[in-house]
Amino acid sequence: MYIGHVGAALAGKRARQNIGLVVLLIATYVPDWVDTGLCLAGSFTPAEMLSHSIPAVLVFALAWFVVYGLRSEDWVGAGVLAGVILSHMFFDWITGEKPTWPGGTMIGLNLYAHPIADFIVEGTVIAIGGALYARTLPPRRRPWIDVSMMLGALLAMQLVIDVARMFLKSLPKC
Ligand SMILES: [Zn+2]
Repeated sequence: MYIGHVGAALAGKRARQNIGLVVLLIATYVPDWVDTGLCLAGSFTPAEMLSHSIPAVLVFALAWFVVYGLRSEDWVGAGVLAGVILSHMFFDWITGEKPTWPGGTMIGLNLYAHPIADFIVEGTVIAIGGALYARTLPPRRRPWIDVSMMLGALLAMQLVIDVARMFLKSLPKC
């Protein structure tokens, strides 16, 4: 999943409003940041065992839970962040194909092969997240303008990616 992960971060903001949105946005992409780091270090492997396998994502979620919980003493918030990280794995199973564990099979519906379906699924996740996030904003005149501009920008980014997918078999991750 690409921009759809932002939807999970926005939903996390609704679940626990005292977590910074930037922290949630970083958390929702943790497995992809790990891929980026491995890529820069020259040790990226297409199997993504160290970034997207079930044990890897569980370790990331647990590490964030402990570190955020100890630093903030907000264990509910720590649980929300861990849930946002876990959601990355489940969403990637819908849109891509990811490793289970070392020696295990790859699983996933690989909607990337069907860019229109991918746009519908990711767009739905973005829209639901945006609707949940909108309720966290302070009341003011016409708040829907900000939220719809944000949603429009996110959907436009997703559209660009899915259109690129139609012409390229796969987008390089590294
Ligand atoms: Zn990912």
